[in-house]
Amino acid sequence: MIVTFPHMGNVYIGAKVLMEGLGVDIVIPPPSSDKTLEIGSTYSTEFICAPLKINIGNYIESIKKGADTVLITGSNGPCRFGFYGVIEQEILRDMGYDVEFIIFEAPEGDVGELIRRIQKATKTRNIGRIAKQIIKAQRAIITADRLERDMLNIEAREVKKGSIRMLRKIYKDEVEKVKGEKELMNLIKNTYNEMTKVQINKDHIPLKIGLIGEIYTLIEPYINFHVEEKLANLGVEVHRSLYIGDWLSEHLVYRPMGLTKEVKIRKAAKPYLDRCIGGHAWETIGYAAHYCQSGYDGIIQLLPFGCMPEIVAESILPTIQRDYNIPLMTLVLDELTGDTGYLTRLEAFVDMIERKRERRK
Ligand code: SF4
Repeated sequence: MIVTFPHMGNVYIGAKVLMEGLGVDIVIPPPSSDKTLEIGSTYSTEFICAPLKINIGNYIESIKKGADTVLITGSNGPCRFGFYGVIEQEILRDMGYDVEFIIFEAPEGDVGELIRRIQKATKTRNIGRIAKQIIKAQRAIITADRLERDMLNIEAREVKKGSIRMLRKIYKDEVEKVKGEKELMNLIKNTYNEMTKVQINKDHIPLKIGLIGEIYTLIEPYINFHVEEKLANLGVEVHRSLYIGDWLSEHLVYRPMGLTKEVKIRKAAKPYLDRCIGGHAWETIGYAAHYCQSGYDGIIQLLPFGCMPEIVAESILPTIQRDYNIPLMTLVLDELTGDTGYLTRLEAFVDMIERKRERRK
């Protein structure tokens, strides 16, 4: 069995720590690219969400490198993500690929079945060993997320433009080569050491922009055209509302116990949306209101073309914009979006909020 999985932000780092720690062979798909999207778009239904198309491209690129088993998490609630595993398996079967899909979810709340699936994917029945490795994997993702966040904060203030971009490239090249949690943590520690050498402009007071929207478009840099790096290069401090490490803690730890880490966000969302309507619309609205209340200069919503929950959220956002008088921009992403026009819109938005800040002064 050689396992693969779709690219979703830093998921591959956790999957690597989990699977390699349990002795399972894996294939990490090549970083998502135009070629990945082209393969996925060719074989998927035209109007299906863009993340599914990229997933299909990821799988095919991994299958060509020897993968025969696909791991994907499941979901419940009113959103197409709950059907991804089944639809993706059908698409690959139609194409003649006989790969096994293991979907990490508890069908109709059957936790026993979820455990059996995890045991199958990890090739061990030892629950203690699996649990230990899951904790390590989760810790690896959270640490990698934190490193990304810290890099962006420095990038917005660096004196010599491009310093952090160069460090990021070295880190990304190395992270696929390291083996196990220990080597990964050493790499992250060394990267932090290098970051301390980057000179900061202490007089620069960056604009603050909150990024909200559908999780895949927030965490996967290929589909969002590296929006965070582009904004940081324009001297903007970016705060992304969702990170995969936080999402996993919320869904694997807090919610099964009937708890949530998102009390503050749900409270902020309440006057505009007071329930889950699928995807991350609830978080989108909650974070939009939260950023307004926290003095941010602007908000950007990202969504893939045809994402139903985010379209509903988009229709609510003008009310928040009016209540708080905050600049807000929505960017819809699909295979037809072009990098140049996208950058122009970002630059114009940053320019506009900069002028607004000057006027306020
Ligand atoms: S959140 Fe949106 S893009 Fe993601 S699966 Fe659901 S409908 Fe598709």
